[in-house]
Amino acid sequence: MRRPLVAGNWKMHGTRHSVAELLAGLNAQQWPEQVDLLIAPPALFIQQCREALGSSPLQLAGQDCAWQAEQGALTGEISPAQLRDAGCQYVLVGHSERRSLLGESDELVCRKFAAALASGLRPILCVGETREQRDADETADVVGRQLQVVLDRFGVGGLAQGVIAYEPVWAIGTGLTASPEQAQEVHAMIRARLALLDDEQAQQVQIVYGGSVKADNAQALFSMPDIDGGLVGGASLNADEFGAIARAA
Ligand code: PGA
Repeated sequence: MRRPLVAGNWKMHGTRHSVAELLAGLNAQQWPEQVDLLIAPPALFIQQCREALGSSPLQLAGQDCAWQAEQGALTGEISPAQLRDAGCQYVLVGHSERRSLLGESDELVCRKFAAALASGLRPILCVGETREQRDADETADVVGRQLQVVLDRFGVGGLAQGVIAYEPVWAIGTGLTASPEQAQEVHAMIRARLALLDDEQAQQVQIVYGGSVKADNAQALFSMPDIDGGLVGGASLNADEFGAIARAA
């Protein structure tokens, strides 16, 4: 059976002081044993997090990485190998904020996915449609296209080495959560699409939901058959709430 996964995406939040407080709060939580748990702090704080977390079951993720594994002349970028060296096990790729605000293409996201795998990180591939695309009934096409680039290159087996995060753009940071049924519909569609190519691997892939996950809606979302946990933004900045979400998985 698939293990649930709950990830906290801190985005561009925090100072050394507030991060220390948040980490103290996280270290006071009771973490469920059967759940993969991780936080994605701004890269500046990875070291601080690693030191403070000690033997906590919380693992570390980068929020993004460069599209090549090796170091090189790429001012401002962080390679997946550097993230790994700093203690990360995971990295987000293709978050919708980067796709929309920085123009990251499916092709670039695929290269990041590849570089992450080559560096021994598990990439968390973020996909999802905008409000306009949903209203135009394009959700399946958009999400399908975002997955296809990676599938063409790595197949379902390669995708299954990472994690898929379905994050409808209209639900991110808006307080508008997809209903459990709406989210389940897309998760099931994704898995069915993968199953056409390789049913056994498709059943293994962790597909988590993101978009205004909170302590009070997590349980309903996570109880759906194809929702394997959550990628939590805003609510992951509150240690007690993030703990409650993790325990709901
Ligand atoms: P949110 O963000 O939980 O604040 O909606 C989720 C995400 O962007 O990963």
